[in-house]
Parts: sequence; C-alpha cells; structure tokens
Amino acid sequence: MTQQEERRYDYHLPDYVLHRPRTRIVCTVGPATESVATICDLIRAGMSVARLNLSHGTAEDHLQYLENIRRAAEIMDVPIGVLADLPGPKYRTGDSGGANIRLETGQNFTLTAERAPSTNQKAAVWPAGLHRDIVAGSRVIVDEGAIELDVQQVEGREIHCKVAAGGILQSRKAVTAPGHTSTLDYFTDETNSALNFAMEAGVEFIGLSYVRNREDIRRVRERLSKSPDKLQLIAKIEVAEAVRNLRSILHEVDGVMVARGDLGVELPIENVPGLQRRIVRMANEAGKVVIVATQMLESMIESPHPTRAEASDVYNAIQEGADAIMLSGETSIGRYPARTVEYMAQIARRAEVEMDFEGFLQGRRDALLEQGQSVDDAIAYSAVRTASILDASVILAFTESGSTAARVASFRPYAPLMAVVRDPDARPRLSLRWGVIAVNAPKLMWVQEIFLEGSRAALESGFSSDGDLAVVVAGMPIGVPGNTNMLRVVRIPEPKRRF
Ligand code: PGA
Ligand code: MN
Repeated sequence: MTQQEERRYDYHLPDYVLHRPRTRIVCTVGPATESVATICDLIRAGMSVARLNLSHGTAEDHLQYLENIRRAAEIMDVPIGVLADLPGPKYRTGDSGGANIRLETGQNFTLTAERAPSTNQKAAVWPAGLHRDIVAGSRVIVDEGAIELDVQQVEGREIHCKVAAGGILQSRKAVTAPGHTSTLDYFTDETNSALNFAMEAGVEFIGLSYVRNREDIRRVRERLSKSPDKLQLIAKIEVAEAVRNLRSILHEVDGVMVARGDLGVELPIENVPGLQRRIVRMANEAGKVVIVATQMLESMIESPHPTRAEASDVYNAIQEGADAIMLSGETSIGRYPARTVEYMAQIARRAEVEMDFEGFLQGRRDALLEQGQSVDDAIAYSAVRTASILDASVILAFTESGSTAARVASFRPYAPLMAVVRDPDARPRLSLRWGVIAVNAPKLMWVQEIFLEGSRAALESGFSSDGDLAVVVAGMPIGVPGNTNMLRVVRIPEPKRRF
C-alpha cells in the first residue's frame, strides 16, 4: 500500500453539504460571481456545479473563472463540477460597433453572410449559412424576439426581409428561424476553439448547444477520445430536431438539459412545459442526468425576492424528476447571486419533503420491466426498495467510475446516498447527480473491507448511529468500473473480523 492509501480517511461532512438540497443547483459564473469569496458564498448557499457559458466572454475570462471555482471548491472542501457550454451551430448578429440601431416595424431590412458592421438597413449573420436554411415566407427571430423579420426573398448570400416587429439591434445576438434547423456543420470555428479550451482547461461536463442528432454528439465524442479526462456530455435540447431525436440522443450522452430559453424561441412557447415533462421523464427512464434550465428565478436578477410563479416553477421541476436546476443571468450578472441560490435551495428542500418517493420508484420499476433485463438497474432498484422497506439510515454505493451511485440516484432514494470512491476526480464527476454525496476512500481489496469502511463512513458522516441499518451496493470484482451486482444490508457498526 502506498502512504496515501494508508492514511485514515475522514468522512465528516460540512453543514452546508449535509443541508444542501438533493436536487443539484447549477450556477452560471460571470462578472457578478467572479471572485473566490462570492463563489464560496454560492457553495455555502447550495451550488454543486458551476457553469461557464463559452458563447460569451473571452478565454482569459473563463480561465480566471475556472481557477477561482477550483480554489473556492478547495477552500469549502466540496467537489464542484464544472459544466462548459459550447456555442454550437448557432447564427448570431454581427457587430454593430456600439451604435444604437433601431429597426422600425414595416421597414425593409437585409441579412447578409458577408461580414460588415451592422446598419439600420443591413446586418451580417454569422457563421455564413442562414441563406441556405430558409425560404421566402420564413420568419426570422433576432435576440429571442427583440426583433422579428419576415423573409421576402433570398438572393445569393443576402436575405431580404420586412420587419414584422421592430426593436433595437444588438451585436452577437442569437438569430433563429423557427422550423428551419441550422444546417451548419456542428464544429463552427467558435465551437472548435471552445472545445479545445474545455479539453485543455479540464472540466467535468461539456454542454452541447443546439445539438440536432446523435451524429453531432458522436463527432464531439470522437474529438474527446484524444483527451485523457473522462468528460461527460450534456446535450442541450433546444431545437425541434433534437426533440424529435430525443431517444437516440439519450443513448449517446451522459445527460440532457431542458434548455427552455432557446426551446421557447424555436418552438411555440406553450409547448415548453409539456416538452419539459417529457424530456425529464425520458431522461429519468434512461437513467441519464437531466437539468432544467433558464429563467427559473429570473426576476431575482434585479429583485431580492422571487415571484410566486418562479417558486412554483422550481418546485414543479423537482417534482417532475429533475436531477438539477440551473441559474443563468441570476448568478452571472444578477444583483443577488448568493441570495438567489439560497431561495432556490429553500424551495428545493421543500419540494423534496413533499416528493412522492414511492410513486417515483414504482414508475421507474414499471419502466424497467418494459426495458428488459439489466443486472445493474435491478440491483440499484433493489437497493432503493430495500432501504425504503427497512428504513435504512444510508445507502453506501462503492463505485469506481461513479456509475453505481448514478444508477442508485436515478431511483431517487429517500435514504441519504453516499458514493464512496477511490479516485478523487470521480467526485466532481458525480456532482450533477440527484442526492449523491461523494466521499473519498482508500483502495479496498476485500468485500469485508468495504463493509468496515462503509460502516465507518456512515457513522462519521452522521447519517447513521449504532444499531442502524445501512444498504451497501457495489460492483464485483472490486475495482472494475461499471458493473453493479452486489447488494447487502449491514448493521452499524460492522464488527471487525479477520480476513
Ligand atoms: P443558453 O442555454 O443559456 O446557453 O442559451 C440554455 C437555454 O437555451 O435555455
Ligand atoms: Mn440556449
């Protein structure tokens, strides 16, 4: 045994980890949250994952944010995962050079694939390609509806439009043609450099914006195969084509995001709540992580209190089965970043108290029976069922890659769930998973060692007292990732035997 492996591991958990809601909170880091102290405040309030939106800001900004996030996680002694979102095949307006450009309803306006500063007659749309995607009669939406254009005629690389709803034209704002998914190659220049950045900087999760199909994901995976880190892919479901391909997309990824911001532009806004439910349910059934994102506590960008509607939104997302809920502008540019997270955590804790755990488990069981046989799922399900019948104090998932703990989490155990991992890097990789508390343990060689170490972790963390029951799940043989096949119930403390 190496020296490191001989040391006694400490399983005491800070208060803010014990009291964190089980639903994970993802915070977009930006100018309002760049300092280490503010990020520490977010962690104290309940953040588990920090998000970098690589569509905005410079590489230097993001490197600085990342460094500060890592530093804060170390100070607070909590594994914090980092999610870096790639720009994806998205059209944006060109630069207006700071000019205040106003488009009037009814005027003519041209979009062009040639790069030039915007005027009140013409603006560049970049990357070049929108003229290939649309036809006369299409509607083009700029900046999430700030401006709407009706396409009159497409002439070469120019799109002649009539302004259907006027407004202020700003630089680098999203340009969308609902019903006409972009035909751009997934790897635009911006996406390429963002992916290189994410690989070099070392993050846990990559958010794939504007994914259309499994092929887009496979191509990103291929690029990642050159990276030694185990990066997890989160497909952002935000265009109609991705909704249609949801099942095959779920096969390829580690998780999905219900990206309601763009989804509500690409599809009628009234479709969003139903789609959210469907995406969440399908991700749950596939055992994949699902994040519900955008405008959850939007009013708190400016206001110290959320609206009642926002409180309901957070509550409902959790009841529907979200693993994680996300804040964007609220934490990146908002006035009350930590306070917003506190509100979110409070609402989440309440939603969890009122969650129908039995109903959820039953639903997952029915889905499993339809899906066919999987030993891993059967064991994970049984662990949760057993813990519920015995009112176990904790479920201990001994896991190499993290997959055993992830599977158990997908059944939403009522008992606390500790993932016991040897590799310290595996901890932040579990940070998006509902309810998983990941701790580091030494290398364990024998089954009996697992029970002993688990018993110690259960006691020290405070989840169990003498005489309590704990459910242990693991994969055998020990140390081989990805097969969950052992389930045992231990009475705490496990007596030390010779082995
Ligand atoms: P974005 O993604 O914030 O990167 O646009 C989320 C969304 O569209 O809702
Ligand atoms: Mn989006």
